[in-house]
Amino acid sequence: MLHNMVTNNKHTHSRAVLLLFCVLFFCSSCGQSERTLTKSDAGKSYSDWEQSPAGSAKYLDGDTVFISIFLDDGDGWTASDKALVKKNMQIACDFLKDEGKRYGKEVNLIYDISKHPDLEYHYSMDTPFAGSTLSTHEGDLGKSAKQLRQNIYEYIKRNINIEYVMSKYKVNSIGFLAFIDDEADAATTYSYYLNADISRYYEICFINLRWNNAGSDALKPETYAHEILHLFGARDLYYTDTMTGITREFIDHAYNTHPEDIMLGNSRKGVNYKNKVSGKITDITAYFIGWKETIPELSTFPTISTAYKASFVYSRKRLDNHDEYTLPERTIQEESYRKGMLFRVIRIICYGILLITFIIDFRKRKHLKQSLSAYEETERYEGND
Ligand SMILES: [Zn+2]
Repeated sequence: MLHNMVTNNKHTHSRAVLLLFCVLFFCSSCGQSERTLTKSDAGKSYSDWEQSPAGSAKYLDGDTVFISIFLDDGDGWTASDKALVKKNMQIACDFLKDEGKRYGKEVNLIYDISKHPDLEYHYSMDTPFAGSTLSTHEGDLGKSAKQLRQNIYEYIKRNINIEYVMSKYKVNSIGFLAFIDDEADAATTYSYYLNADISRYYEICFINLRWNNAGSDALKPETYAHEILHLFGARDLYYTDTMTGITREFIDHAYNTHPEDIMLGNSRKGVNYKNKVSGKITDITAYFIGWKETIPELSTFPTISTAYKASFVYSRKRLDNHDEYTLPERTIQEESYRKGMLFRVIRIICYGILLITFIIDFRKRKHLKQSLSAYEETERYEGND
């Protein structure tokens, strides 16, 4: 017994010395340094690369790494443009983290390229960015948008070591953010659809720096957060989509009952701020990103139900005669509101003028009547005289 105790003490002592040695002479992560992850590590959380219906960016819960790819078409990124992207990313990611807390989720987004320079990549474009190529699917511009997307898929495959990123950051969820130092008409996200070509497993947001409208306004953090949410299964709530079962009736319902939802995009009522996100993740978007198991809308709009959590499925055919319906954009709404206000003001002024004319006329008539009766009185008086 005593012998055992002595031996145990000896073992405890040598373990303590060994631990002290480790602490003194190795970095804090030395214990994890031998952990290498491969695609064939069956049963491990990081083993389902190219197999998850959720695509490369899986669930907005726990850890996700965002890899930033700065697209350069020759004129280079200025320090201030890059700082703008970093600022917007921070506000957008803080917003997603805070919204997660409201739903009891622990959102940890690893994106800061200042802290993690190995998450920053640069892609040189062969030809200058063609401007409004991000939204159209037709014509030459549509073709060049498709080509750009294809080029980025290839670039990721050749230049980014996914297994290294998974291993280093201990994640199984990776999103790609392609930043374009240019103006465009739309920020666009390409999510993975189960049963679609596996080459599209990498989920990418294409985020342009500014809008190519007359004002050339910079994209706000809300747009960054909106696009990032698509990586995790969020649906747009401003236009119909037969593939995801988003119908015109459902859009109207979402617009009327959840007017603050960030996925209403430009149709959301309210202001799009430079320094904060004022939209919200409502229960509808929370369902699509897997934060809520179910929502009451599922019984009224069964087509919106998701087959797999936080995922898209390439099963419903895009119909030629689908019920295309888009909510009016915030700018159009504001314009029509302004026009409506102007019309109301003009109407009030017209009514005012009419009222004043009537009052003046009434007073004139009254005055004339009084003058006439006074005259008649005088006449009568003079006649009597
Ligand atoms: Zn969207």
